[in-house]
Amino acid sequence: MNAVKTIWSDATVHFTISKELAHRESEVYAAFKMITDATCIRFQKHTNELNYLKIQDGKGCASYIGCRGGVQSVFFGPACSVGNLCHEIIHALGFYHEHTRTDRDQHVTVNWQSIKPNKKRNFKVKRGDTFNLPYDLNSIMHYGQYFFSVDGSPTVLPKRSGVKMGQRTHLSQLDVQRLNKLYHCGKDLLATACHQMFHLTSFCPTTLTHISSFRRADEIAEKAFGY
Ligand SMILES: [Zn+2]
Repeated sequence: MNAVKTIWSDATVHFTISKELAHRESEVYAAFKMITDATCIRFQKHTNELNYLKIQDGKGCASYIGCRGGVQSVFFGPACSVGNLCHEIIHALGFYHEHTRTDRDQHVTVNWQSIKPNKKRNFKVKRGDTFNLPYDLNSIMHYGQYFFSVDGSPTVLPKRSGVKMGQRTHLSQLDVQRLNKLYHCGKDLLATACHQMFHLTSFCPTTLTHISSFRRADEIAEKAFGY
């Protein structure tokens, strides 16, 4: 995965679920569980926190990247699966798509002419932190071969044959490792505090006056997929 620096304080994400999604609450919790089962990241109901996720209905599945400050929507449309929602939440946790890593051309070929014109930006390289972990075709954050194809031809092809990409059923081992690294899971509190204070990580703002500087995160929007 490919991460930004604006992450959620204390590895804790507060959230609300919009009323229209009441009948899908168990799916939202299942998506959270995919992450909490494997990491120290926790999801808690919003009370009076400044920064929180609003899980809401929408046309498709979509999320912003990283913690932007304030209330932040994650769209869980009718066609989105639990795995799709988990993927969107991982965007909100701070990760770009795996196939936008700077080293992606060593692993996949992007067929630009096959991509729907308004979706080309979802394939642009992003300079996020990869934690020196290997490229991961099996990541829940990687697109499949035909995602956003304009004519049914592949948009992204693996350089090795016989590889499947675009799964939305589970976190890969490398997904787990990168989430745990970004959120300092398993480190002692003092080391984590020092790390946060002196370099690398800027946490969400805690006062309104700082919010504007955190509005730079990229916005992405994507449709639901079969799995
Ligand atoms: Zn995505």
